Amino acid sequence: MNIILLGPPGAGKGTQAGILVQQRGMTQLSTGDMLREAKTSGTEMGKRVAEVMDKGELVTDEIVIGLIREKLEAGSDGGFIFDGFPRTLTQADALAELLAEVGQTLDHVIAMEVNDEILVGRIVNRAKEAAAAGQPVRADDNEESLKVRLTEYYKKTSPLIGYYHAKGQLRWVPGLGEIDEVAGGIAKILD
Ligand code: AMP
Repeated sequence: MNIILLGPPGAGKGTQAGILVQQRGMTQLSTGDMLREAKTSGTEMGKRVAEVMDKGELVTDEIVIGLIREKLEAGSDGGFIFDGFPRTLTQADALAELLAEVGQTLDHVIAMEVNDEILVGRIVNRAKEAAAAGQPVRADDNEESLKVRLTEYYKKTSPLIGYYHAKGQLRWVPGLGEIDEVAGGIAKILD
């Protein structure tokens, strides 16, 4: 089973993906994690994307599609969770093609329903807690980048809701409850 977790920054996509990996042996494909890795590795691609990411803007479709292509070709026994990908209609079309190439299908697109004020609070908290624990704070977890990230989401990613609705693949879960409650909502869709 292959699924997409769709939702704005701070919706809890990464947290829920982690639970699905633990409970179902699925493979999490987070383009954000892959890009942060590239950033710290000092590769040419890493240098190119660092500035864009820190500002909160989206990196090019070409780069993220390339990252996903490599992972899909490697395969997964438990199925893939796409976390933070696709973020544009071009990426969504590319994903459909890539899955078809490897003989796979997309089973569900799970949209996490949240509210913006709570999102901003969550992200500001995430940064504070990391700082207090002496952990690195994400370079894009500040108010300025966050505004850009939300704008990018509404401009470029939220059209995917209509796109997947039209394909009959969209499922909503309330994203604002406790972590376990949200996980329960997702489990109901998958079982
Ligand atoms: P995330 O960890 O998913 O919040 O992603 C962090 C940042 O990485 C985003 O703000 C973008 O700059 C970049 N990024 C992650 N995934 C994508 C994607 N699918 N398309 C474009 N940019 C992305």
